[in-house]
Amino acid sequence: MDRKSALPAPLNAATSARLRRQPRASTKPELALCRELHRRGLRFRVNHPRLPGRPDMAFTRARVAVFVDGCFWHCCPEHGTLPRNNRDWWQAKLDRNVARDRAKDAALADLGWTVLHVWEHEAPEAAADRVEAEWRRRVSSATR
Ligand SMILES: [Zn+2]
Repeated sequence: MDRKSALPAPLNAATSARLRRQPRASTKPELALCRELHRRGLRFRVNHPRLPGRPDMAFTRARVAVFVDGCFWHCCPEHGTLPRNNRDWWQAKLDRNVARDRAKDAALADLGWTVLHVWEHEAPEAAADRVEAEWRRRVSSATR
């Protein structure tokens, strides 16, 4: 990538609107997964402030952290896209997001946590199956 493309480009109106639409608080897929996990009797902290990356869900005893990743912002292999305007700027920004995700994973792993990433496109039941399975595995190995 050349030097120029690493610099931020001014945002046009459509891009600014897209950014404004991105919620900062819990997203719909997050809430759906939370509800499904609660329904199964699992309890967890939401956006644990003292953990790297403030995971969307943190099972403190089992030390399992869950992030629900948006398909656009985290470059889902199925739905990740690059806006046509300011392509290089977006490419650099999204690359940084992915690099930050991996850094958070590494920081949590250093603290003995298992990290699960769920795509926003995943069905909440299937995602909850994965989370619950990992939680059970970790809880049973912790008490052995
Ligand atoms: Zn996706």
